Amino acid sequence: MAKNKIIIIGGGASGLVAAIVAARNGAKVTILERKERIGKKILATGNGRCNLTNLKCVSDAFHGGSEEFINNILKQFNTEDTLAFFSELGIYPIELENGKIYPNSLQAGSIVDVLRMEIDRLKIKLECNEEVMEIEQKNNFVVHTKNDNKYYGNRIIISTGGKSSPDLGSNGSGFTLAKSLGHKIVKPIPSLVQMKSNAGFLKQLKGVKVNGLAKIIEDNKILREEYGEILFTDYGISGPPILQLSRIASTLIHDNINVTVDIDFFRDMTNEQLDKMLMDRLTSMSNRTIQDNFIGLINKRLINVIIKVSGIQLNKKSGDITREERARLVNSLKKFTLNITGTNQWNQSQVTAGGISTSEIDNHTLESKLVENIFLAGEIIDVDGDCGGYNLQWAWSTGFIAGMNASK
Ligand SMILES: Cc1cc2nc3c(=O)[nH]c(=O)nc-3n(C[C@H](O)[C@H](O)[C@H](O)COP(=O)(O)OP(=O)(O)OC[C@H]3O[C@@H](n4cnc5c(N)ncnc54)[C@H](O)[C@@H]3O)c2cc1C
Repeated sequence: MAKNKIIIIGGGASGLVAAIVAARNGAKVTILERKERIGKKILATGNGRCNLTNLKCVSDAFHGGSEEFINNILKQFNTEDTLAFFSELGIYPIELENGKIYPNSLQAGSIVDVLRMEIDRLKIKLECNEEVMEIEQKNNFVVHTKNDNKYYGNRIIISTGGKSSPDLGSNGSGFTLAKSLGHKIVKPIPSLVQMKSNAGFLKQLKGVKVNGLAKIIEDNKILREEYGEILFTDYGISGPPILQLSRIASTLIHDNINVTVDIDFFRDMTNEQLDKMLMDRLTSMSNRTIQDNFIGLINKRLINVIIKVSGIQLNKKSGDITREERARLVNSLKKFTLNITGTNQWNQSQVTAGGISTSEIDNHTLESKLVENIFLAGEIIDVDGDCGGYNLQWAWSTGFIAGMNASK
């Protein structure tokens, strides 16, 4: 029987796994990669350490697409399969925190290295600096690149990623290719990205890091909350909890809906407990100004901002603070509100929400329902994950399934 000739468009996380699986299954595989080398984005993951998956791989951590679609994919290739796949290639995985898995080397380069070694071993053809511009459908497929080269195959896997961090390769050109084949693209928006705010106090807080419970609010309703280290910048807010909430902010802002983020700096205390604690401080240090009273309680650069937004004079004596003013201080510490005006754009975003509609993709094989023998893998599909290894897990899972089915 003639071997399947598979062309994989995009040598990122999903494309590299797809290539390995397909070649192991006997197919003749060529990877076309627009950058000068494969796996550039993998190198940047997890701050250069690569958070490759998560032990708590539940469908709640994924968004977009249909839940059935997501579950069908994760059922076929889950965290355990990822660990087995990479262990076999030589990666010794370790859990650092909250189920997050990294290579023991804590070097994302190890992941790219072991994938490249396997690609070499399997004699997969690798063509870098080849940006695919068109997929022509004849009896088989003819793939045209920017350098005017043509590649021929009977199966294609499109694994070009989304639009996030285009300097690392994924410039959205996969969406153009998919559209030319008739696919519908759910509007791509930047996710896992910093939020912008017009709050006047941001210049004062630039660089301040504080632990807090961040809540994203629309119309007085809490849509999601996340705890962790929040970083204030001159344009807005960043840090793991903010990135985690950013998908909701991005989506609502694109629909012109107002959102705010409220930060609770004392999540372990009720308003009453915090009020009692403040009352004790104000009484025991009644001669200190309120500004000096707050030293040691919260970050020093946050003190003036909290007192000002509570409408209190900075040099007011602690003993002169009224019950009503104390209530305003409690409110500012428990519900520090920032009006969100937008998010940073593609250059800063880690993942793309939106992409090829899951309704147009077979949820067992990842073959396009519109064009036979075209398979889709990775972030190009309208599914994105939370921070914590979920986006790479999606890339590995879909890469594996697309590679397996394209090579059948
Ligand atoms: C800074 C950063 C940190 C991250 N950290 C983590 C993390 O720790 N854990 C986690 O789970 N996720 C993380 N992610 C997300 C994760 O890296 C991606 O979701 C994942 O890499 C997507 O895999 P992919 O194969 O779909 O796309 P990509 O990895 O983006 O690969 C797509 C490839 O296709 C190539 N390409 C694009 N268009 C064409 C074309 N027309 N022709 C030829 N080639 C093309 C690109 O150059 C690229 O190499 C991070 C992302 C960023 C930006």
